[in-house]
Amino acid sequence: MHNLDTSIKECINMVKKISSIDIAKLNRNMIYKNIYFSSENITVNKLVKRLKLSRPTVENNIKALIEDGLIENGKHIESTGGRKPKTLEIVANHKYAMACLISYKYISVGIVNLAGELIDELDIDWIFKNSKEYFDDINATIKKMIKKWNIKRENLLGISIVIPGPIDSSLDEVIYSPPLANEYIDIKYLKSVIDLPVSVINDVNAIGIGKHFFDEDDDYNAVYLNLARGIGGFIWSGGHKYIGDNGIAGEFGHMKIVPKGKKCHCSRHGCLEAYISTSCISDELNMTLEEFFEKLDKNSKKITEKWFEYLDYLAIGITNIYCVFNCKVLIGGEITAHLQEYKKVLDDKVRSYLSFDKDKTIYEISNYDKKDIIFGSCVYYINKYIDTI
Ligand SMILES: [Zn+2]
Repeated sequence: MHNLDTSIKECINMVKKISSIDIAKLNRNMIYKNIYFSSENITVNKLVKRLKLSRPTVENNIKALIEDGLIENGKHIESTGGRKPKTLEIVANHKYAMACLISYKYISVGIVNLAGELIDELDIDWIFKNSKEYFDDINATIKKMIKKWNIKRENLLGISIVIPGPIDSSLDEVIYSPPLANEYIDIKYLKSVIDLPVSVINDVNAIGIGKHFFDEDDDYNAVYLNLARGIGGFIWSGGHKYIGDNGIAGEFGHMKIVPKGKKCHCSRHGCLEAYISTSCISDELNMTLEEFFEKLDKNSKKITEKWFEYLDYLAIGITNIYCVFNCKVLIGGEITAHLQEYKKVLDDKVRSYLSFDKDKTIYEISNYDKKDIIFGSCVYYINKYIDTI
């Protein structure tokens, strides 16, 4: 009996010990996250009130977080009396994350700090090649950027490789990205040459994730439709990203809209992407997007017809998506600046296709750009790191 009693006591003591360590960890993490995500100035007083913790607990944690280089004292703010309280701020350059966007015609490499600020971005015009040489060149560019900013390896959380097109979560060694190539791309080789943790993310998912990261009130529904060479989508449902069974929900580009229609990048026929990809108004006409819009500005009859046809299919895409999700469709991508000028035309077309809710604003033209993709793809590492503090 004595032995049993002793072991029960030991057990209870162990559980108590573990719990107090967990609570201490939780408090530290909660304090850091409150400083990180707060949109207003944070002081010790505010943390005590907000988190309902004792002043010594908050002060000891703040001291430890400052010693670990994670937070610092910021500016003084006005007080109602007595000593002016100091604000607390996170050390933005404590850690970094990187992103490499691989597009058919260019790559973009960027570095973001822990606060999500873009430190550097480099764009290079390279046509995609599914080859070791191409991936070696990407790796060399990443290394060059790390060297330029003199960032220590231990301060780099990882790099996200951003790919247009569906990324099946069950495939981690090969990916299929129709806007890049009509064959499987061996991502295992690229992962093996980069001396950093590597993750792969879809471009539109990155935009969506980035957009909601600092959002305090994100309990709403929205669907993103990204217009580029590949047509991507992202579904935000009541505070969560909806991914479907294989993680490819939102691949609106491959909805069939014309039976036996135009050939798509996915090698099937009649997909929405075959009609609203930016290739339709550039590559297929042997011109760049800039040339297309220059000609449109000069009222070229052929180009104007093509643009109105493009807007017509875009309106069909928006209407179909709205019918399924019954929430706002946010349009983004390389041509949104030009879309803004033709919003009235697009509005009329959308209304003509809608069977209900004709009086509602069912879509919006967003102004997100490449920087948002870089930030959103780095959020994966930033969020993971913040959870460990
Ligand atoms: Zn397709």
